[in-house]
Amino acid sequence: MFNFILDLIYPPRCIVCNNIFEFGTQKFLCDECKNLITPINSKRCEKCSRPIDFGNLCGICARTHEKVFFDKNFSLFIYDDVISDLIHRFKFKNHPAIGKGLSKIMANEINLDISQIDYIIPVPIHKARKRDRGFNQSEILAKNLAQKFQIPLRTDLLKRIRNTKPQWLLDFHERKRNLIGAFSCKNVSGKNIILLDDIFTTGTTINECSQMLKNAGANYILSLTLAITFKKL
Ligand SMILES: [Zn+2]
Ligand SMILES: [Zn+2]
Repeated sequence: MFNFILDLIYPPRCIVCNNIFEFGTQKFLCDECKNLITPINSKRCEKCSRPIDFGNLCGICARTHEKVFFDKNFSLFIYDDVISDLIHRFKFKNHPAIGKGLSKIMANEINLDISQIDYIIPVPIHKARKRDRGFNQSEILAKNLAQKFQIPLRTDLLKRIRNTKPQWLLDFHERKRNLIGAFSCKNVSGKNIILLDDIFTTGTTINECSQMLKNAGANYILSLTLAITFKKL
């Protein structure tokens, strides 16, 4: 009954095109908009999960000399125009409802065995930024996954102790420098962890967090991201 009244006041809408659904619909995306998002259905790079045609690693992972501290990254979608627009509206235009929809989609679409995972840890933002934005986008994205798979969502273990420039303003080397000393981590000895973020671009933030978690004793880190940047060569 309560949900019915909520539906009357705030009818469920597609988070992309804003079309209203019938009462009681649990969907967040209409079928047309769902078809606009690019899932990764092909063979994936076993490190970063970008689509590949042959072999085990993509060109980027095969060439990198960086030490990688996460065990693998898994992204659900390619970071295309639709996802980019959604994440932008969610993060910067104060639409946490979009994030809740994306969180549901993440929980529904993930097709990985995560039964050995002890904690889900969202990539933290600094408390000053959280105060400005009102929420941590990664924490909202993680919520449905934690609920559906009954895995504790821990926001108390990994902290961002320095407020850094947004990574997207910087090139690769600046990105690395920007994050030095940015995080602190409590003891996570022997734990298997999902580290959750919205976008995997160069992986610098994920890798810095992973290094902190591994230094704090983490056994296994699965980086889980909504979308990954990908250019077909
Ligand atoms: Zn739609
Ligand atoms: Zn790769």
